[in-house]
Amino acid sequence: MTRPNIVVILTDDHAAHAIGAYGSLVNETPRIDEIAARGARFDSCFATNSLCSPSRASILTGTYSHVNGVTTLVTPIDARQPTFVSRLKDAGYRTAMVGKWHMGDGPGHDPEGFDYWDVLIEQGEYHDPRFLSADGLRQVEGYATDLITDLALAWLDSLDGDDPWCVLVWHKAPHRPWQPAERHADLYSDPIPLPTTWNDDYATRTSSARRAAMRIAEHLNAEDLKQQPPPGLSYEDESLWKYQRYMEDYLRCVASVDENVGRVVDWLRDRGEFDRTLLMYASDQGFFLGEHGWFDKRFMYEESIRMPLVMSYPERIPAGTVHDGIVTNVDFAQTILDAAGVEAHPRMQGRSLLPDLVAGRATDPEDGFYYRYWEHDDAFHKAPAHYGVRTRRHKLIYFYNDGMGLPGTGAFTYPGEWELYDLEADPDELRNVAADPAYADVLADLRHRLRRAQLAVGDRPHEGEPALP
Ligand code: CA
Repeated sequence: MTRPNIVVILTDDHAAHAIGAYGSLVNETPRIDEIAARGARFDSCFATNSLCSPSRASILTGTYSHVNGVTTLVTPIDARQPTFVSRLKDAGYRTAMVGKWHMGDGPGHDPEGFDYWDVLIEQGEYHDPRFLSADGLRQVEGYATDLITDLALAWLDSLDGDDPWCVLVWHKAPHRPWQPAERHADLYSDPIPLPTTWNDDYATRTSSARRAAMRIAEHLNAEDLKQQPPPGLSYEDESLWKYQRYMEDYLRCVASVDENVGRVVDWLRDRGEFDRTLLMYASDQGFFLGEHGWFDKRFMYEESIRMPLVMSYPERIPAGTVHDGIVTNVDFAQTILDAAGVEAHPRMQGRSLLPDLVAGRATDPEDGFYYRYWEHDDAFHKAPAHYGVRTRRHKLIYFYNDGMGLPGTGAFTYPGEWELYDLEADPDELRNVAADPAYADVLADLRHRLRRAQLAVGDRPHEGEPALP
């Protein structure tokens, strides 16, 4: 079989529930949907640490955060570690990376294993962004999502010969500060429907949800929203006004992503490469779009951890496949290498999804998937560190609450707290049943699953966690 070409389009903070193929109620994304229609849609793909840099590192290296070292936004990657890209390059693939890298810069942190790389600086800019490549730093006029696609297609156009290639097209959009392209400035001006959990009062949750500085009503300011709210609004009406402004800009940024996904699909079609290319579209994690009153991610709740993942490879993956087994960002590397017929590095910790896709199987990890959010002393979003396990039916989360506090103000410590959700009875995660006697057996069972899943990937429990039942 011919080795496939590989395109990985990754966006930043694009929630699955803002994609048509996932049943979005708030926008349309015809070009992303097209990939799902021609290939597979994953309905239970999760980030193992719902934050930008850590998810990127897990995708590249096929390892969990504590193994690749990128646990937070301020822990740069050691770019010399094995990645799926370095494996592909060693196997004769031409390789390129354009767009948002955001895992540190400088020697040892700049992209490695690529024939060509051209990346935004840190979080990057939407308009007239700066790019860093092996030739140095430059500023380019235009809109980031368009420019990143331009650079990827220009590199592809420059290739000749028959060796296969792999290009990573990694966008900044639709990450904060949500600055759309001018051509989309008037999209989505009609009222955008509110999510049903907008008024969540966090009544049964631990202190963490109440403490988090992620509420649209209180933590999005005029700079985020590019306007002051109209004067004289009640608290409720001002909150709704903020939600609309936030969503308009977010969805406008997504509109340019969708167009640019279409440009890549068209390029592949025009050259007759579509059928023998593994084309993936994913986001580094999910995002709250007003659910529970929030924006942002971080928490192990569904909207935050669910990654959109669609992929087409018509030569091997049947069209219109829907895969509902639990998969994670750690599985991407081995899936790509498997498709390319290249052996995974022994350090990689995921599994190839290709056999399941080809055979129509849905395999879940034995004890559920292991999650850990490491950022702790966070002055900005105040979402505390936690870990947990999610099976098809249940989710258990442990907030260890150790040493939380604002930098420089002295840490404070709470006792650890548990949250347990029955996702069948309560898919919106509004009722924490960790203290409900009816769930005592479920809680005990999940605590053992959590420990097994944690140890299986080489992580350790927090010292404050009580002994297992
Ligand atoms: Ca992100």
